[in-house]
Amino acid sequence: MPHRVTFIPGDGTGPEIAEATRRVLEATGVEFEWDFQEAGIDVFEREGTPLPERTLESIRRNKVAIKGPTTTPVGSGHRSINVALRQAFDLYACIRPCKAYEGVRTRFPETDIVIVRENTEDLYAGIEFERTSDECARLRRFLADELGARVREDAGISIKPISVFGSQRIVEAAFRYAEENGRRKVTAAHKANIMKFTDGLFLEVARQVAERHPSIEFEDRIIDNLCNQLVTRPEEYDVIVLPNLYGDIVSDLGAGMIGGLGLAPGANIGDGYAIFEATHGSAPKYKGLNKVNPTALMLSGVLMLRYLGEMEAADRLERAIAEVIRKGEKVTYDLKPTRDDPTAVGTSEFADAVIEELAAIAPSG
Ligand code: NAD
Repeated sequence: MPHRVTFIPGDGTGPEIAEATRRVLEATGVEFEWDFQEAGIDVFEREGTPLPERTLESIRRNKVAIKGPTTTPVGSGHRSINVALRQAFDLYACIRPCKAYEGVRTRFPETDIVIVRENTEDLYAGIEFERTSDECARLRRFLADELGARVREDAGISIKPISVFGSQRIVEAAFRYAEENGRRKVTAAHKANIMKFTDGLFLEVARQVAERHPSIEFEDRIIDNLCNQLVTRPEEYDVIVLPNLYGDIVSDLGAGMIGGLGLAPGANIGDGYAIFEATHGSAPKYKGLNKVNPTALMLSGVLMLRYLGEMEAADRLERAIAEVIRKGEKVTYDLKPTRDDPTAVGTSEFADAVIEELAAIAPSG
């Protein structure tokens, strides 16, 4: 039976890297039945919505999607499609492996960490009060009168909810990932010394969950210390579980440590639904130039293969991508010693090179 998967090319450079990813996924020999659907700025301009109901319906039906990046206008226009998708399907776990492949120029060649970011709570919940609004004034008065907390008259306010439920399920997801992927340790990152009732709660729950998983080592780090240690001794870290905002920031730190955004894959996973996408955005200035690196989405495809139980094909595709990067010839501009290196290949030629490598790696079993 082929795997039926919703396929969303996205916008900007999305369609180019999505097409390259589709080709390498098919070259593994695994059978897919793609359900092509639209999301992003192009469909917004035509239909007035960046995320048509038919796209949501397709994901509801297929339960698995792979998605190219989509543009979110800053300040005006439509809301983030990614935030909308995470909410619609309660995709509470964002899993972002950051592994430095041989051949990539990085100061941190030992990096092999997996970031597990909570996706639904925290300052990202979008509960905000504009400085000049009546609600914000009422909230400031409440804080002053009831709690004796002085908030300046000219302050806006954002709220940071962190629940026992949300913390439990993300920390469980981190331990599950560690157990299923042969990892040895989970580190919980927080600022519990300062935010006792939110980060403190997260840490307390993490410790309780850790007791249920004795085969995996557990430790915690204050987030600023974690950032310091990630760039001084990255080899000490393995799976790192974080509340939403810290997870967002540390994901880009991790991407930088492994050679750039073009290499950082991701998966958004909930109970029964999963959407696979790169960490990076739509890089619109390169749209249509067949230039950007499709590795991040291809590696997101590797994560999807594993999610679908296609372990052998996933390992083969990862090896083929790693081999192209190791050889360093048929790679995109961002993986060359200088950005204007004339030997850099385009997005689709990178896919050709991966397909060539795949053909040379015999399927096992
Ligand atoms: P971006 O990740 O699109 O690009 C930043 C820079 O990183 C690019 O200019 C390029 O130099 C480099 N880069 C990114 N992807 C690359 C790749 N595959 N290969 C080589 N180099 C690459 O970030 P941005 O410019 O801040 O965002 C552009 C748009 O994407 C915004 O509208 C933003 O909201 C959106 N966005 C979407 C997603 C998503 O769909 N998951 C994620 C992040 C940002």
